[in-house]
Amino acid sequence: MVTGQCECGAVAFEVAQVRSEVTFCHCSQCRRMSGHLWASTHAAFSAVTFTRDDGLTWFKSSEWAERGFCNICGSSLFYRETGKDDLGIAAGCVNTPNRLMPGKHIFVADKGDYYQIADDAPQIQKN
Ligand SMILES: [Zn+2]
Ligand SMILES: [Zn+2]
Repeated sequence: MVTGQCECGAVAFEVAQVRSEVTFCHCSQCRRMSGHLWASTHAAFSAVTFTRDDGLTWFKSSEWAERGFCNICGSSLFYRETGKDDLGIAAGCVNTPNRLMPGKHIFVADKGDYYQIADDAPQIQKN
């Protein structure tokens, strides 16, 4: 079982498994929402159990997606495309130890200019 939570614990979840490859999104929206870049794993939304969700709020970030965050501590936690049984889960909120590893970088063309990508994962300019 994979578990995770926000910083204060008002949002917590468990799921049987998540994708082991982490996607790093460097687009400007992800950089603003996360504070740096959005590193996420995935699971089917229907497979995730929210063991605590009293802090969970969804922000409609585009016509096609929303982002879940904790309205108490501010942790950036989830990304969900409307109508899809798919949940992007912030890699940083997954409890350790886990089997997560770098998978790929996307929207590299939009990345911030204050850092370098320092791993060997594939870099995709857009998506
Ligand atoms: Zn919280
Ligand atoms: Zn992004």
